[in-house]
Amino acid sequence: MRQHGKLEYGGHAAPQRTCVGCRVRTAKSELLRLVLIEDHLVPDLRGRLSGRGASLHPSLSCLELAERRRAFPRAFRVPGPLDVSHVRAHLEGESRNVM
Ligand SMILES: [Zn+2]
Repeated sequence: MRQHGKLEYGGHAAPQRTCVGCRVRTAKSELLRLVLIEDHLVPDLRGRLSGRGASLHPSLSCLELAERRRAFPRAFRVPGPLDVSHVRAHLEGESRNVM
């Protein structure tokens, strides 16, 4: 059995990231990390993929906001446009699960 350190429970110490869609700072654990694989944005569901990442609330409205403001090419420092269909499919799947 593994003992967890105190830090796991220190809510104030939780790292925060800014959502690229609505620009609200949120606990990293509540945001979806996105990484770029070639021209495709993909959700990094296990936090295992390396490289530059962008954080997004797991919601379609934030995805659409990010697309409208061209936040993804900026976050990844590429000219764009980027394919977000994997992210969209993931988010659409999530909302179906919730219902
Ligand atoms: Zn957001």
